[in-house]
Parts: sequence; structure tokens; C-alpha cells
Amino acid sequence: MNAPLTRPLVFHRPGDTELSRRLRAAVQGDVLFDRASRGRYSTDASIYQIEPIGVLIPRSHDDVRAAVDICREIGAPMLPRGGGSSQCGQTVGAALVIDASKHLREIVAFDREAMTVTVEPGITLDALNAWLKPHGVWFPVDVSTAAQATLGGMAGNNSCGSRSIAYGNMVHNVLAADALLVDGTEVRLGAEARMGDAPPRLRGLMDGLRAIADRERDEIVRQVPKVMRRVGGYNLDAFHPQSERPYTADGSVNYAHLLVGSEGTLAWTRTLTLKLAPLAKHKTLGVVSFPTLYKAMELTKHIVALRPAAVELVDRTMIELARSNPSFRPVIDGALVGEPDAILLVEFIGEDAETPRCTLDNLVALMGDLGLPGQVVRMTDANEQRALWEVRKAGLNIMMSMKGDGKPVSFIEDCAVPLEHLADYVDRLTQVFAKHGTRGTWYAHASVGTLHVRPILDMRRDGAAKMRAIAEEASAMVREYKGAYSGEHGDGLVRTEWVAWQFGPRLTRAFEEVKALFDPDGLMNPGKIVRGTRMDDARLFRYPPGYAPVKLDTALDWSAWDVHADPVTDTVTAPGTGGDPAKGFAKAVEMCNNNGHCRKFDAGTMCPSFRVTRDEEHVTRGRANTLRLAVSGQLGPDFASEAVREALDLCVSCKGCRRDCPTGVDMAKMKIEFAFHWQKKHGLSLKDKLVAYMPKWAPWAARFPFIANLRDALPGAARLSERFAGLSAKRTLPQWRSDTFLSSRVALAANPERPEVVLLVDTFNNYHEPENAHAALRVLRAAGYRVAVARASASDAERDRPLCCGRTYLGAGLVDEAKREARRMVEALAPHAAAGATVVGLEPSCLLALRDEFLVMGLGDEAQRLSTRALMIEEFLAREQREGRLALPLKSLPQKRALVHGHCHQKAFDVLNPAVAVLKLIPGLQVEVIESSCCGMAGSFGYEAAHYDASMKMAELSLLPAVRAAGDDTLIVADGTSCRHQIADGTRASRPREAVHVVRVLASALDPAAQEIRARAAS
Ligand SMILES: Cc1cc2nc3c(=O)[nH]c(=O)nc-3n(C[C@H](O)[C@H](O)[C@H](O)COP(=O)(O)OP(=O)(O)OC[C@H]3O[C@@H](n4cnc5c(N)ncnc54)[C@H](O)[C@@H]3O)c2cc1C
Ligand code: SF4
Ligand code: SF4
Repeated sequence: MNAPLTRPLVFHRPGDTELSRRLRAAVQGDVLFDRASRGRYSTDASIYQIEPIGVLIPRSHDDVRAAVDICREIGAPMLPRGGGSSQCGQTVGAALVIDASKHLREIVAFDREAMTVTVEPGITLDALNAWLKPHGVWFPVDVSTAAQATLGGMAGNNSCGSRSIAYGNMVHNVLAADALLVDGTEVRLGAEARMGDAPPRLRGLMDGLRAIADRERDEIVRQVPKVMRRVGGYNLDAFHPQSERPYTADGSVNYAHLLVGSEGTLAWTRTLTLKLAPLAKHKTLGVVSFPTLYKAMELTKHIVALRPAAVELVDRTMIELARSNPSFRPVIDGALVGEPDAILLVEFIGEDAETPRCTLDNLVALMGDLGLPGQVVRMTDANEQRALWEVRKAGLNIMMSMKGDGKPVSFIEDCAVPLEHLADYVDRLTQVFAKHGTRGTWYAHASVGTLHVRPILDMRRDGAAKMRAIAEEASAMVREYKGAYSGEHGDGLVRTEWVAWQFGPRLTRAFEEVKALFDPDGLMNPGKIVRGTRMDDARLFRYPPGYAPVKLDTALDWSAWDVHADPVTDTVTAPGTGGDPAKGFAKAVEMCNNNGHCRKFDAGTMCPSFRVTRDEEHVTRGRANTLRLAVSGQLGPDFASEAVREALDLCVSCKGCRRDCPTGVDMAKMKIEFAFHWQKKHGLSLKDKLVAYMPKWAPWAARFPFIANLRDALPGAARLSERFAGLSAKRTLPQWRSDTFLSSRVALAANPERPEVVLLVDTFNNYHEPENAHAALRVLRAAGYRVAVARASASDAERDRPLCCGRTYLGAGLVDEAKREARRMVEALAPHAAAGATVVGLEPSCLLALRDEFLVMGLGDEAQRLSTRALMIEEFLAREQREGRLALPLKSLPQKRALVHGHCHQKAFDVLNPAVAVLKLIPGLQVEVIESSCCGMAGSFGYEAAHYDASMKMAELSLLPAVRAAGDDTLIVADGTSCRHQIADGTRASRPREAVHVVRVLASALDPAAQEIRARAAS
């Protein structure tokens, strides 16, 4: 093995500067040559890291053309890229990365009758299928990464979906490709029969390919595995079909199939013409529980005989991991019979409802015949099926949520073996893992003999040696069973060295000739498929031996991540024992495995800033990568650098990633940590100080509201505030009130003995919208609770100042000040909690801080205990209702519909459902949730001039259109102060809408008559 390095290789090439200069002059797209951008593009979902020369985000095909011309002239390599979700290192290299995913995502042509669509390479599968859905068709290569995988990348990798047994791989579904060759020639590759009058360069290419394939015909027959799932090398078998499922229905040649699976090494794919399939009208799912994994694998071949559309494996470890995730648990539990060691998800499809139902019956009968009666859970409901598929799709991501340095590593992840050998293969490979002191989790495509498995290895220590040893034993088995070493994920850096092993020296030479025909100077994605490096060249690892983060004195407690985990016994050492010089922060950042799941636009919150910019810099993955590079010194000696600040600038701290990221990357918390180091080094701006210290000056603003509100009353003042304090003049600010809730008579009197509920009124609701707090008090009292209003404890030096969660300080990185506020809060509320009271709050970001940030501030057990008794008011009411204790007299309202926008933190902590549940208590009220990400206001973010545009774009993604579409008979409900402000601001110009807090809706529905009757009965 090569000597260990502390840093991955950086390939500096002469001409880098010339390249960036010439690109900038020639293209309209972004040209990114700075260190952080190159760092962000130096990884994909593999274990590798190589810094690219630079990055181009082309705006148009003309940009790509210009870049290819310049690179050819300079001799600079190029690397096409889509979502960068490759697992084998295909998109990692010392080249100019050309990223199609931001701009090149048009649907160019659609022919419903011919069932074809032509697309640009940067469109994602989900976006394409969403567009196709109303036409009753879809593109059926349904990869797990459908939300981030681009069609260009899918073709590049010859990707395969769960239903490949029914629809085939990419190669079976690509009809034609427009490509740009390195020499600048534009070619259209397609069915041979249609390429009769090809221009000379193309004709030469075609003749050359045909000659190589015909010359090697015998060797192709001898060496190319006869399984459907074979993804390595170039598809020379397009000329002499070897796959169980020929690439074309009649076995004819399609030249586009040479580009499929070529991993960007032959040409730039400009457009792809794809074969579509009708949307399956009816589906059923049978979930079979097996006592052993071996049994499941042994019986798969019988199940496949029923001609299902998919047979997918989920093993015991995955079942348990899914169960530990609250959102997956009920779904997986509903799919099991007893405590199986493995389950198979067997899907049947049909044009009519009867066919898939009958085949499901056949499955039940078959399992009985095979000695497993009563082991099938029948799922005919589409929603139930969808939920279970989501768990299966999240499989790999669930598995990656393992803490510590050992991680599941992808290198034999997708070997494909014929079904009759599947059980033995799984059994023997499991023993190989055990021999090397590790284990793997098995899942995925049993139907086609491609099982995913990743042994857990520590690449910083002995991972490389174990990787080599396991790969050698696995490959020997694959050969014995006449399988394919790569059945899904391709060659990249991890498997190019195995191409010769799989295909023999003659075909390896033939592949080199194919490469030379397209790209004689070897400029397209060098080192992949041909002329590769060793898989275990540690210089190319993201975490090479000797990798170490810098020492960091963290402000927050990250020790929970600083652990060692034993892959075999699953035991985890105590917090703080993992040896991280950055006190666990580096290991928390390393939880991001680069799978790219955050590059998505579907339901869920993550990641609002990426949704508006589509920049790698502004997605959770890009941020985690930037932090990883910074904390390991790869961006220079200064952790608190401008590059990191820029990457985090548009992060709205919504905590969407905390919930939606499968490995729980919590960027909002990381941003606090960074802000702490930043402000220590650079200080704070006037705006940051104004916002951060608001809890201190708020009492004064309430005493003199006419002065505090001058900014929005005095002509020109807003513009001045923009100029000197960075607050957007396009925004109004929340208005200060003198009639604050905490100074009101009713609040002062709310101090009963032994309260059952303590109402925590935050700075915003106290000073800006006291009616919300009044409404909360009315509702809680109407439900019959003894309510106290939370106040600072008697021993507090600032006794009269309201309690505060410290969030504004956290936003500015003033962690010590935030801790002081948090301590005041704990001191005041812990005695109530200890006495059994529940603390309820109104503002999600304030109340939920007690359950989140307070726990990493070193506040001790009291904070821990308090966190278990701190609930949003709707959570409390919903809980009481569930447990039969809520007696809230409610009458119907004039409005019959309520549209609810969830605050991001409400969604991150699963507190949106309770809000919906309590609104549904109002007779006749129809409650709907707006499928929205962050509203874009996010505390002070949207008020800042620098962020105003991004903020409004976030709101316009789905929230504001939904609000505008709602009629006047619809209530708009939002618990977040800033969400309400954003809704008001965003609708002011058209039809102004006011959003209200849940508790205001409940208060307005209180039935006074019923209350009176109850009061009389009680007296
Ligand atoms: C959690 C997880 C689950 C996965 N599940 C699956 C699965 O179910 N099935 C599956 O097959 N794969 C799967 N993969 C692998 C990966 O997601 C797929 O291969 C995906 O199709 C890659 O798409 P991408 O846009 O990310 O491509 P990228 O990774 O960006 O690129 C892939 C290849 O295509 C080339 N390329 C991209 N654009 C062009 C272009 N315009 N011209 C020429 N070449 C180009 C690149 O150079 C590269 O070699 C999974 C990966 C992860 C992390
Ligand atoms: S942040 Fe999470 S979702 Fe995004 S790439 Fe990293 S691990 Fe995946
Ligand atoms: S906290 Fe929100 S904005 Fe920030 S990275 Fe996570 S999902 Fe994106």
C-alpha cells in the first residue's frame, strides 16, 4: 500500500489559471476555482476525495461547448457531473467538473404516442416523472436516489431501479443520445438502422466500434457475465448480446448504448431520448417474513417465477434500524409477521385491479407450499405500500447513521449472482466479514440477484487492508457463481482496477481502444473504466490513514458524537471517548456521508436554501463538506474563515436536516458553533448586536414604543436602517407594544399554588402579539387547568426581566450569553417541572430550544428533566385529549377551513400533527397542512437586506402561492411569529392575509355557554 498521507492528493496542473481566465471570458455560467468550491466538488457518495482543477456550472449547451474547446486546447481533463451521488468515485477527479444539475434540465421533446421523451442531462428522475405523471406515463428506472439522480448521471452509470426485473436498466431504456465529443463534433447516437447517412467522424466512430466488437466477439461471449445486472466496462456486448435481457427488443445495435455506463469517460451527453412506460394502474405488495436470511434468499427464485415487478430484501439489522426511527417504526411494524430475520417486499402490477390481487393470492399460496404458511402481509392500499417503499428506499441511509469512525463502505455493494446461488453467496460472504472482524447489512434487489452489502470499515486505520482482502474473497465467489462484480454502481475509482479481472486482458485492451476512438487524448474523466488507480490507494481516500481534525474548543457539547463503535458487537463507547481533537464536532460533521439526499425538492423541509439557489454551496451536503474541510485544516489554518461563513450564510437554521437527513446532520446547531468561533475572531456587526441583545433592550422598547417604532413611521428611516444596520427597507419590523402580556393584570394575577401548567411567554409574543398569550391563558383555563405564568425566579439578579430562551444570542454565536439566559430559564422552571407541572410555550423556536439547544449547553440534569416536561401548547392539549383528560368546550366557527403552515422547528420535532389534531377538535373545521418548506423569514434572516431576495424566493416556493389561493373563508394558521410576518409581507401587495396562532383559533372557538354551564356545575 502507498505511504499514508495526512491530506488527500491535490493535483495542481499547469494551465489552471489560464483555464479559469479563458472560461470566465467565454461562458455565462459560474466558474468556480476557489478552494472551498473545489473542495465541495472533490467528493461524491464514495470513500474518495480528489480536488478538481475547477468547477463550471454551465448555463447553456453553448457554455459546455466553449468549455470543451478550451479544455481540449489546453489539455485539461473534464468530468461531467449530475447530482454527484455515485458510490464508486465516478465524479471525483483532477479535472474541470462540469455540473449540469443547476441549469441544464429542460424537457426537450415528448411524444405520448411513441412513448418517448427527450431530456437534458441535468433533470432529476423525480422532476421528470412528476412532469410525466399527468400524461399517465413514467420513466421506470426507479433508482432509490430518484430525487437527486439526474438522467445524465443515471445514463453515465447505467443505473438500475428496484423494478429492473420488469423494466430493465438504463441501457434497456435509452433510445438515443446527442453527444458532444472532445474534438468538438456533435453526434447523435441511436439505433444502427437509423444512422445510415452519418457524417464522416460519426461513421468512423461507428465502424471502429463495430470492428472492435466483431474482432472480440468470442471474447465477449466468453467473458461478459450473462446476468441482467452487469454494469462494469463498456457495453461492447451491444453488438453481441450477452445479457439475460437484450438491450434492444430485437437484438439490434443501438450506438447510444455505448455511452450508457461509460461514466463520462467518452463524451458529454447533451440530451437523452428515453423509452417511457405506462404508469401501473394497480399494484399490490406482499411482505413475506422469513425465519432466516438464508431461507429468504433460497426461496427468492420461486417467488421470481410469479413474475413480480420487484422483490426487495430488508434484513434484520435494517428492520431494527428502521424501528428505531419514530417515523418508520409504525410502518415497518405493520409489515412484519412475528420477529423475522428478513423480509422480502414482493410487488405485483397490472392494468386491472384483479391481476395483481390474484398474483398476491398466488404468493400467499406459494409460501404455504414452501413451508411458510401465514407469513405474508398483504398490502393493497397504495398509501400503505408507498410508506413501506420509503423505508426500503431509505435503507442505505438508515444504515449510514452509525456514529464513530467505522462506516459501512461501498466496494462489493452490488455484486450480482444468479438466483440459484444467492443464499450460498450471502452465507459465505457473511462468514468472510466475520473473519475480518466486521459485519454487513444485507438489503435490496433480490429479484435480480443484486444484494447490497457494506462491511463496516475504518478507513483511517486498517480499512484499506480489510477492503482488499474482502474484495478478493468476494470476487472469487462471484467468479465461481458466474456473476457480475458490478451489478449496479459501476466502476469509478473503486472498481476500475477490477475491469481486467472481470473481462480479461483482451477485452480490457478493447475497452482502451473504445476510449481512444471517442477521446484519443484521454481528457474525459480520466482513470475511470480504463487506466485506473488501485482501489485502496489511500492517497485518494476522504479519510486517509493519519487523517485528523484540528483542535477546537467548542462552545456546545458535541461529546455524543465523540465515540467508538464496535462493528461486530454494536457497542458504543461513552460520550467523549472517541479521541476527536475537535471534541466531537468533527465527528458530528463527518456524519454526512455525501449521499446527496438533501438535494431534493419533495415534501419535507430540507433544504430551503438549496431549493432557491440549486448551488452545492447552499445544500446541507455542501455545508457539511465545507465544515469538514475547515475543521481538518484543508481550507487553511483558520477554522472561522470567510469560506465557511459564506457556505453557512443562507442556512436559515430551520433544522430540516436534523429531521430529514438520514444520518441526522444538524446544520442549525453546527451554524451556532461556527458563529461562536466567527464572532470571537471577527466581532459582531451593528445589526447582529441589535438582534442578539433584543431580550435586554426589549423592556425599554416596550416602555417607549413610539420611539422604538419610529423606523417604520418616519419617512426615510427604513432606508437608513438598511444602510447602517443592514435591515431591509422592503420590510416592516414587528411593532413594539406597551400593553405587553407579562405586565397585564391577568398575567400578574396568574400565580396559583401548585400549578398544573406553566405558560412560558416568549419575547415575541409578549412584546409584539400579547393577544396570543392572552388566548393561551383563556384556552388553558377554559379546559380547567390551574395555570401559572412563567417568571424569573426570586433569586434572579434581573428578576423583572422576562425569561428568554436565548435564541437571538445563539444566532449571533454569543453562546455564553445564551447559556446565561438558559440558566435563568432552568432556574425558574425546573422547580415547577420537579413538582409535576408541564411547561407550555407558544413560539416553536423558543419552546423547542428547551428540548434541543439547552441539552448541549452543559446545564446539567435539571435541564434534562425540564426538557421532558416542556411542550408546545398544542402538544399538551393533544396529549390531554388523547389520554381522555381534555374538556375544552368548543363551538364551530364562521370559517369552515383552516390552512396550516408548520414552523420549521415544529416540523423538525414532529409537533405539527398535534397542531392539526387540536384544530380538528373545532366542530366542522376542515384542516389542511400546506406542503411548505421554510417560510424564508427564519428569525431575523428575512429582515436582513442581504437575505431579502432569498427569503422571498423561499416563501414563493409553495407557502405564498398556497396562501394566495385560499379563499376568505379559510383561516391561515401559523405558530411562528416570523412565519406570520412573512405571510403578511408576502400578501400585502395583492390581497392582504393575516395568519394566526393555533391558540387564537381555539380561543375564538371557545363556547361561552358551555363554559358557563360547566362553571355552574362545578360550583
Ligand atoms: C443512498 C444511495 C442509493 C443509491 N441507489 C441506487 C439505485 O437504487 N440504483 C442505482 O443504479 N444507483 C443507485 N445509487 C447510485 C447513484 O445514485 C446513481 O448511479 C445515480 O443514477 C447517479 O446519478 P447522479 O446524477 O448523481 O450522477 P453523478 O454521480 O453526478 O454522475 C454519474 C456518472 O455519470 C456521468 N455523467 C453525468 N452527467 C453526464 C453527462 N452530461 N455526460 C456524460 N456523462 C455524465 C458522470 O461523469 C459520472 O461518471 C445510489 C446512491 C446512493 C448514495
Ligand atoms: S447532509 Fe445528510 S442528506 Fe445531505 S448528503 Fe449529508 S448525509 Fe446525506
Ligand atoms: S438547517 Fe435548514 S437551511 Fe440549514 S442546512 Fe439544514 S435544512 Fe438547510
